[in-house]
Amino acid sequence: MNTVETLRLIAETTQTCRLCGLHSGRTHAVPGEGPAEAKVMLIGEGPGFHEDRQGRPFVGASGQFLDQLLAMAGLQRGDVFIGNVIKCRPPKNRDPQPDEIKLCTEHYLFRQIEAINPAVIVTLGRFSMNLFMPGERIMRIHGQPRRINGRLVVPMLHPAAALHQPQNRPLLEADFRRLPEFLAQVEAERAAAATPAPPASQSEAKDEQPLQQLNLF
Ligand code: URA
Repeated sequence: MNTVETLRLIAETTQTCRLCGLHSGRTHAVPGEGPAEAKVMLIGEGPGFHEDRQGRPFVGASGQFLDQLLAMAGLQRGDVFIGNVIKCRPPKNRDPQPDEIKLCTEHYLFRQIEAINPAVIVTLGRFSMNLFMPGERIMRIHGQPRRINGRLVVPMLHPAAALHQPQNRPLLEADFRRLPEFLAQVEAERAAAATPAPPASQSEAKDEQPLQQLNLF
């Protein structure tokens, strides 16, 4: 199965998912959307009212602001994959519970990440950050990328946090403006890793043999 097919299958499965109690309150699951070959993946918390109605991520007020933030990074919505920790809206937008997060990420989000293999993951808000950096505090580490599984994971504030508390807005904007720099860094590393090493000279090749044999044991 190629990446497009894998993502489609995951998305279809979310629509009939009954793994946790959230299914009973949903209008639509919101599996996430974006190109299968996206280099950047954004992960929010979970669908709100508008997302639940439309089955699409970040289509409310936070989504409009997210579009502006992406533009500051020279990106458009169609350039990135936008997903969420959980795929169904919790009642009254309450926080997702640990068992809901565990089930939903293991069955859907982590499989989406594996399929897309993005160079950079941007976590939006503390629930998303917690998947990769448990126990951290978002206000302490936002904008500081960490290398995890061959990619950069950049924790950022949730756009809603900047809408509710305007003093957070410049922080989020500054973090988004650095996104092209983070992406270029991973792309350069991935390109270097894909370039075959120059052939070793004969004497070097001889010298290397005992080491290689030793490594086998
Ligand atoms: N907030 C989120 O975390 N995700 C959405 O999809 C919309 C709002």
